[in-house]
Amino acid sequence: MASPNVAGEAASATLAGLLDSPEIGRLIADLEATRWTGRPGYPIRTMVGLALAKSLYAVPTWTKTVALVREHWALQRALDCEGNVPSVYACYRFAEKLRKHGSMLERCIDSVVEGLRSKLPSYGRDLSIDASDMPAYANGQRYVSKGGKERKRFSDPDATWGHRSAVSTRKGGGFYGYRVHAAVCSTTGLPVAWTVETAKAHESRFVAGLLDAAKRRGIMAATAAMDKGYDVGPVYENCAERDCLPVIPLRETGAVKAGKHLPPTCSHGIWKFGGSDRKRGASKWRCPTGECRPASTWIEAHRLHPLVPRETKRWKGLYRKRASVEREFGRLKNEWALLPLRVRGLERVRLHADLTVLAKLSCTLARARAVSKPQPRGGRCARPPPG
Ligand SMILES: [Zn+2]
Repeated sequence: MASPNVAGEAASATLAGLLDSPEIGRLIADLEATRWTGRPGYPIRTMVGLALAKSLYAVPTWTKTVALVREHWALQRALDCEGNVPSVYACYRFAEKLRKHGSMLERCIDSVVEGLRSKLPSYGRDLSIDASDMPAYANGQRYVSKGGKERKRFSDPDATWGHRSAVSTRKGGGFYGYRVHAAVCSTTGLPVAWTVETAKAHESRFVAGLLDAAKRRGIMAATAAMDKGYDVGPVYENCAERDCLPVIPLRETGAVKAGKHLPPTCSHGIWKFGGSDRKRGASKWRCPTGECRPASTWIEAHRLHPLVPRETKRWKGLYRKRASVEREFGRLKNEWALLPLRVRGLERVRLHADLTVLAKLSCTLARARAVSKPQPRGGRCARPPPG
């Protein structure tokens, strides 16, 4: 019987499968329709395959990807370029083409996310949103050397200085480059929406855009868990406008020090949470003994009193699952070569992130389709395949 622990198929076979999937097939067809006249060029299918192979094999550069394909006959066969591997310059030209036709790639990503949603019903119900550092492939030091002259030219003009938190034994502090902002499904751990921005931009500015991108992909998130960095008024408003419940811990602001976030009290004790009304945008609180008149009151939802109160078990459970976004950043960086960056400029870094996540999500979709094919015995796999 098939178990989730059987050895995976060869990466070249996975790649051939991806290129034949309807989502990637449509991207290839869209790009073929824009085929420039003049230079004959390599087949688009081969070029899209090279871009996916780069993430699948976690190779940081086009040069090394081309070198890998040159000495790997199975890959050449999967990419349909036996004995005629595209040059690294063809890869650069293809990357430029993808940047120029960004809407086609976007549509491909949309359809992969939609495909995953139909295979994994819980995908995107609860989201975790966070940002993570992507150090630039450039030197951002202001001085060329210690005590030396000021740097006049920066090799990556879009990179800026930002702050990152400590991870394991690595200390937190300043870093130079970009940050990827992502909304990840708390249950399946799969990305739903993401964007790359320069490092100094504050994370709270991108919540609305991430929720809108998720919505465009057919994902109506019920909740979104975020860390303290997102505990600012506009984030709560952005979530409320999109009918998504925010799960964010409180910062020690003046209002919190004054205890304005605490539940109401009376001589009978602390009032108890009695449910929320999303349409009304308020939560109900009751006197513990019911002797007060009126015995309950409605509190309008805002930062200090969200619809999922921070005292509840539901809030704690959702917040605990927020770690899924951190784990996904780790997987994308370490297993799918989101890092190290070997491109410069915001547009190129964005394309790199899009291709990396697309490769990962389409592999997951292919596996989900494979396991949901009628099996000789037993039920369907409700959980997503690992990876
Ligand atoms: Zn009372």
